[in-house]
Amino acid sequence: MVQSNQKLIFGNWKMNGSLEKWAQFSKTVFAQLNKNNIDLGRSVLFLPDLLLHQALQNNELLVGAQNHYFEDAGAFTGETSPELLSNIGIKYALIGHSERRHVFGESIEMISQKMKAAQRNSIKPVLCIGETLEQREANKVFDTLKNQLVSLTSQGAVGECIVAYEPVWAIGTGKVASLEQIEEVHQFLKENLKNELGVDVKLLYGGSVKPNNVKEILNIESVDGCLVGGASLTAESYLALFGL
Ligand code: PEP
Repeated sequence: MVQSNQKLIFGNWKMNGSLEKWAQFSKTVFAQLNKNNIDLGRSVLFLPDLLLHQALQNNELLVGAQNHYFEDAGAFTGETSPELLSNIGIKYALIGHSERRHVFGESIEMISQKMKAAQRNSIKPVLCIGETLEQREANKVFDTLKNQLVSLTSQGAVGECIVAYEPVWAIGTGKVASLEQIEEVHQFLKENLKNELGVDVKLLYGGSVKPNNVKEILNIESVDGCLVGGASLTAESYLALFGL
């Protein structure tokens, strides 16, 4: 069993930040993680594309992309190429984040294609799945999650990845799922992920994780780590997630 002080804490900056903010943040976070002997592999920050190249220059904290297209190159004005991300040294990407699905209308088909594109470019996808409030209230949590997984695998999107369970109603709302809800869903997903994806995958929880609730969430055995939005935006609160 992974100790809770070894678990992953990934941050999603969404469409926030600037060169100056990243410079300050990375300097402070790198120094503090190092000083406290915290394995740097536990942290990946998903940054806006325009900060990625800069972030790779100092090669200190691991960074990833928040999205990319499913073709490697071509006439797709305004899209981000997974091949180019890989070429600049990116090793992780969020795929199917709820904001991509619900704000930008990404379909399961598109998400499956993006999973395959990441894998063929040696980028580890962090696949985000989760139910809406209506689906939870209609008692359709397990059906919804199973459908999200089965639709991916039926389109050949299998293989190495990390999965983040992020109930849509808990993202950016301050409404965190209860420990019982997280445990119940994570146990269900752990059983199904190996069957559906054919590999052992790490399973993260995301949705209003903050310094004041992260410890109890990481203490749940089936939680391998957390994906954190708002509380990853300042060095102070990101470090607090590691207990610093
Ligand atoms: C997220 O962006 O994936 C997320 C979970 O955001 P927040 O922590 O702000 O709810």
